[in-house]
Amino acid sequence: MIKNVAVIGAGTMGNGIAHVFAQFGYKVALIDVSEVSLEKGMKTIEKNLDRMVSKEKISDNDKKETLGRLTTYTSIKEGVSSVDLVVEAATENIDLKLNIFKELDEVTKDHVILATNTSSISITKIAAVTQRPDKVIGMHFMNPVPVMKLVEIIRGYSTSDDVTNLIMETSKALKKVPVEVNDYPGFVANRILMPMINEAIITLHEGVAGVEEIDTVMKLGMAHPMGPLQLADFIGLDVCLAIMEVLYEGLGNPKYAPCPLLVNMVTAGKKGVKTSEGFYDWSHGTKDLVVADNFK
Ligand code: NAD
Repeated sequence: MIKNVAVIGAGTMGNGIAHVFAQFGYKVALIDVSEVSLEKGMKTIEKNLDRMVSKEKISDNDKKETLGRLTTYTSIKEGVSSVDLVVEAATENIDLKLNIFKELDEVTKDHVILATNTSSISITKIAAVTQRPDKVIGMHFMNPVPVMKLVEIIRGYSTSDDVTNLIMETSKALKKVPVEVNDYPGFVANRILMPMINEAIITLHEGVAGVEEIDTVMKLGMAHPMGPLQLADFIGLDVCLAIMEVLYEGLGNPKYAPCPLLVNMVTAGKKGVKTSEGFYDWSHGTKDLVVADNFK
């Protein structure tokens, strides 16, 4: 039975994961190396809870109780001292994650399950640096976590049935819909989504159609809530490139080669919303779609 949870990383995903666990009654230790990230993360949680109160999805008292179940730490060792589950949501960097899991394996009790929210790094590789590969699992939440229903549950090569079942049940307790998948590059979500985004960029690069035309075809023709180029700008073009590289290297098939235009844009620092420019110009905010000068 899981009661106490630690979430490592208070960024975009970490604060959302901490929010959801706390909202559904778990005691949560939110851990980050950066005090600034912890402060920003807690502010985001409070803002998102306020929005839920104003929409009458939760009461003011629910908000207070949720916040009361959250404690912040800058030290992993202190934060994980009495938890049953750790969900790691630190920066997507393999060496950083391997170091975190080595430390977690040393400082947590033997029964503790170690989950990661990685978008693309092999669960089996992460598990291999611990002495408990049967208790290492992928718990891939979607952004924004309090809103999105899916959790992709990724079984590493050695993840046990018991651990998988417990994490599936725990995800349901968060009112999410867990889907069990195996540990191969990109899992399911990004193995399908990223080649679609990459193909949209190739379509643009080859001059088949412009930015707005490609996005309109996919939005209106396929009933997608936003086009693939806009979505790429939201995800971050650097993140899209990193995931395509994982697919290309891991599956060894040229169909996963990142589009040269994607590589060029990332090299030029045009990473989408986070740098104010990608396929669209975001310097005025994210409400209106204005095609970036390069694609006009
Ligand atoms: P982010 O950059 O917003 O946050 C990462 C946080 O990790 C930062 O606050 C940073 O200070 C902290 N951190 C770095 N090193 C640390 C350490 N050693 N110990 C503790 N904290 C540390 O990143 P994010 O977008 O929240 O992504 C986190 C993870 O979630 C990544 O693995 C990413 O692939 C995955 N993910 C992201 C999305 C998304 O849409 N952003 C979606 C699904 C999964």
